[in-house]
Amino acid sequence: MSDLTLCLIDRPTAPPGESVSIVDADPLQATVLATDFGVNRGDGIFEVAGCVDGRVHALDAHLRRFARSASMLDLPKPNSDAYAEAVRRAIAPLCAQRPGQEVLVKFVLTRGQEMGGTGGPAGWAIAYPCPDFAHDRSGIDVVTLDRGVRSDIMRTTPWLLGGAKTLSYAANKAALREAKRRGADDVLFVSTDGHALEGPSSSLIARINGVLVTPHPDEGVLAGTTQADVFAYAEEVGFRTETRPVLTDELAAADALWLTSSGRLCAPVKSLDGRPMAVDAALTAEWNDHLLARS
Ligand code: PLP
Repeated sequence: MSDLTLCLIDRPTAPPGESVSIVDADPLQATVLATDFGVNRGDGIFEVAGCVDGRVHALDAHLRRFARSASMLDLPKPNSDAYAEAVRRAIAPLCAQRPGQEVLVKFVLTRGQEMGGTGGPAGWAIAYPCPDFAHDRSGIDVVTLDRGVRSDIMRTTPWLLGGAKTLSYAANKAALREAKRRGADDVLFVSTDGHALEGPSSSLIARINGVLVTPHPDEGVLAGTTQADVFAYAEEVGFRTETRPVLTDELAAADALWLTSSGRLCAPVKSLDGRPMAVDAALTAEWNDHLLARS
């Protein structure tokens, strides 16, 4: 049996209450047309969620952010019920094969046909085994890279779609290759006016004077579902949290940094631009255990 499972959604933006079919498909056969905007322009949106034993972590938060990304791209609203059903169907066989293990599910909406075709937006959910992130969860080397935008990008240049989870991740992947060339594992993007932003596929959490801080989504960063759940848990156990601009100068005073995301969860930063950072292994493990137990 393949360790990928794909469910296609025939009318991914059908209004609520209208009938939508979800069909199983072979993930290794062509299912998206070569005329699709998503394929040709990266014009579409996606989400990736983690799952264990059929529980999809933060599914509602992912569906809300998916709808928000659609609105930012002027796409029709995705049918959340259909996506939730496709996600559950796609993960079921993999979760059954892998009790207690992490599975990832990606769901996608494209703008539809760029040329020729008459079809509407394409939508699907694909489930796949989670890579082994044990190394990253024990500590990663991170370099800062200039994103080439100011921190007020959302106000001045909203068409750059900061904070939307679009299919256009080529620049994010290029930044990761640059990190590898510099001998690092990952990237922290910074703005031209000296604000720490986010990773190419992760949010930043910094502990500064005992307070957990993360950059504000108004600065063009994606509102992270993992970061939000870490903050909710940390507040319950007595941490103060702040969502606010984080200056790169403040990072020198941080007593710990993490990059957080749905698949890898919390990866503590063990060096930033070659400068060693303290890793709080116990707190990282506590957060990751909490995240894995989420429904
Ligand atoms: N920022 C960016 C640019 C991302 O692509 C991601 C996730 O892929 C995140 C932050 C973290 O978001 P989440 O924790 O919801 O996975």
